Amino acid sequence: MSAAKAHVIIVAGAGPAGMAVASSLSKAGHEVIILNRDIKFGGLAEYGIFPSKLKLRGGLKKQYWDLLEQPNVHYFGNISIGNGKDLTVEDVRGLGPSAVVFSIGAQGTKAIGVEGDSAKGVFHAKDVVYHFNRLPGFGDRPFEMGKHVAVIGAGDVMVDISHWLIRYKKVDRVTAIVRRGPVERKYNPKEIRAVCANMDLDGIKKEFDRIKDRMAAVGQNADHVLRGLTDEFTKCEPKVSETKMGFRFLASPKRILVDGNNRVRGLEMEDNKLDPKGDDTVAIGLKQYYEFPCDAVVFAVGDKVDETVGLPYKSGMFVTNPNKTGNDPDDSLFQAYDEAVGKVVEGVFLAGWARKASEGLVGIAKRDGDWCAEVVTRYLATKVTGSQAKVVLDKLHAILKNRKSRPVDVKGLRALEAAEKSHKGMTDCIGEFKYASNQEMIALIERGKA
Ligand SMILES: Cc1cc2nc3c(=O)[nH]c(=O)nc-3n(C[C@H](O)[C@H](O)[C@H](O)COP(=O)(O)OP(=O)(O)OC[C@H]3O[C@@H](n4cnc5c(N)ncnc54)[C@H](O)[C@@H]3O)c2cc1C
Repeated sequence: MSAAKAHVIIVAGAGPAGMAVASSLSKAGHEVIILNRDIKFGGLAEYGIFPSKLKLRGGLKKQYWDLLEQPNVHYFGNISIGNGKDLTVEDVRGLGPSAVVFSIGAQGTKAIGVEGDSAKGVFHAKDVVYHFNRLPGFGDRPFEMGKHVAVIGAGDVMVDISHWLIRYKKVDRVTAIVRRGPVERKYNPKEIRAVCANMDLDGIKKEFDRIKDRMAAVGQNADHVLRGLTDEFTKCEPKVSETKMGFRFLASPKRILVDGNNRVRGLEMEDNKLDPKGDDTVAIGLKQYYEFPCDAVVFAVGDKVDETVGLPYKSGMFVTNPNKTGNDPDDSLFQAYDEAVGKVVEGVFLAGWARKASEGLVGIAKRDGDWCAEVVTRYLATKVTGSQAKVVLDKLHAILKNRKSRPVDVKGLRALEAAEKSHKGMTDCIGEFKYASNQEMIALIERGKA
């Protein structure tokens, strides 16, 4: 592309979606400025995906390094966007880029909304995942789990949390609490291999006996389903602890039960039945309650976006344009939309989990980023070229300096990587050394500059 047609695009968020947008648009010859809350790039690929998935993580890391080494890609780690943060949404737009893509993931947490949810021993899955992946702010805080942990959810995140509890915390027991039944489980059968060596098969059989009549009422055969569920317990990762893992199906936590020190001692659970709904089922509470003893509760029930960022927000999501364009992919799905004035937010786009919270694996986030880049490209074709990269970058540096922000560039990241690799300190559960605080990382990077 001739320099005359090159635009400046700001991508907020360097997870798989943002990196895909940046890759497409930089390959097309545009100047891409990446602003990322974390010092390190990768988002949940760095701080979410289970630490032992070395091949996946390593492959992504290599691609991302290659991207960041491109001369038309400019990385600013340790820069958060939001009200009261390094930059507001309006600051970013005011820098004069032709477009801004928000690929900042789903950083909000769904309210748990049951009595007792502020008790000691109640956790959001994302915080636990950030903890064991050592995201600054989470890596160095204790997460006391006790002996028996109830993990609420039936998806891959429930499996990852269970994996950590079994493999590294070596708790006595993990129970996945599932609102509907085993047929409606959501985890990928391949993922269960990480924990299947620890399955309490007798306990699971008893659980099926407990719910078989309720399954039969919607035409599900418990014996058949049990066989299907346990047949997936193949190629299990070697057993490294005596933890027993089981399930409690057709169960909704209604209240967290606490002891005199406001520590979790159990859950008040409601039994559910299933009702058919089209091809699917819904859980209906039976108003039969019982106590389920446990020492900690982890809610793995999905995330929502961070409403404090300053983008139009409604019901857990950033608002996108309701007016379809008929293009493929449809531009409207990626355009931020201000309902108060009934207009798209000019030049502002959404991608990845920022557009659809907790939607799919890295491949899906990457594809979303690719689609978003197509939509942005269509938009750029309608625009005359905006500010030059140097002008935008100079403005950005000046604002950040003025606000005493401490951006980290690729050189800084390289220095950090070298220091972490050469570190002989403890690697704990993640098998690699990671500094657990931003201060340590910044101090190290700045020492390298001196
Ligand atoms: C526990 C867990 C395990 C997973 N395991 C797997 C797996 O094994 N395999 C797989 O393929 N997928 C896995 N996934 C899914 C995968 O991680 C996601 O699909 C993907 O990371 C989503 O990408 P994203 O870019 O939309 O968001 P994210 O990865 O969340 O990236 C968001 C980026 O935005 C930045 N950011 C956030 N807020 C701001 C802000 N205000 N200003 C500036 N920057 C900001 C963050 O620093 C981050 O870099 C897992 C997800 C979870 C939660």
